[in-house]
Amino acid sequence: MLLSPRAAALAGPLSRLAARRVGGFGSAALASRPPRSAGAPLPASAAAASSSSSAAAAAAAAAAAEAPGAMLEVVRVPALSDNYIWLVREPRSGATAVVDPAEVAPVEAELKKRGWPLHFVLNTHHHGDHVGGNLELKKRHAGLQVVGPRADAARIPGIDVQLGDGDAWKLGDLEMRVFDTPGHTRGHITLWFPEAAALFPGDTLFALGCGRLFEGDPPTMWASLSKLTGLPRDTRVYCAHEYTASNARFAVAVNPSNAALTERKARVDEARAKGEATVPSLLGEELDTNPFLRPQDPEIRASVGAAPGAPDWDVFGAVRRAKDGFRG
Ligand SMILES: [Zn+2]
Repeated sequence: MLLSPRAAALAGPLSRLAARRVGGFGSAALASRPPRSAGAPLPASAAAASSSSSAAAAAAAAAAAEAPGAMLEVVRVPALSDNYIWLVREPRSGATAVVDPAEVAPVEAELKKRGWPLHFVLNTHHHGDHVGGNLELKKRHAGLQVVGPRADAARIPGIDVQLGDGDAWKLGDLEMRVFDTPGHTRGHITLWFPEAAALFPGDTLFALGCGRLFEGDPPTMWASLSKLTGLPRDTRVYCAHEYTASNARFAVAVNPSNAALTERKARVDEARAKGEATVPSLLGEELDTNPFLRPQDPEIRASVGAAPGAPDWDVFGAVRRAKDGFRG
């Protein structure tokens, strides 16, 4: 679906409150849309408590444990060697999407376990470990729509809805905002559910890291990351890979005196030793400890040999190059 001409560019992320709405989730697209309760949305935990099935209650409670409040249920689906696919469900309408389906089998298994339908694929960028399941999921789920970056539409298999910077789209009753975040790829987008404080940055921002610059230069990627750093600190960052332990080794090498980072690395190492996931993280802890978001830090500047007075994008580029060559 081609959309009408884009709205005028808006300045910072918080000024996008007036962003126009595009696409959306029509009731015709969801034949089995459940009746909506009147009044306030039912918290996921309350839904679990009212269930007559203890198995369903346990599943709902598990979902609630990963949910940013009652606005959006988020389920982590490990895939391939280190990818995370995210299932997201807006509980009032039951609208359900999968973010960056690297492959089909683990997604189908999780949907079956929870008894969820699937209405949308949301893609952040064109890489195979993010769009690999698109066409097969379209075949398996009648009416499923693929939503992805307008700037990279030609490389998104099966794309139906094209989104770009400043666009707003709805998953059921919940608004999703879009940032163009080129750098890792030319057409990469980042998805943000402001009311749920949930961010899906794909391969743009990682826990303690950022994506490699395959199709962009440091100023481009720094501009993309800078769109995200102004979001609320309590935003959960659902990135697409479990790279955190390796990223932490690099981070402490360039920023050894950062106490918050040292403490975070210990937590990450402990979690990984137990086989636990380290994603999502909070944007606030990324701002405090992720060296790719801290080019103003004097110790990081010194570690990468930045020239005095170098602009932040230049220091960011030096940090990225140092990570590319890091063996730690
Ligand atoms: Zn990628």
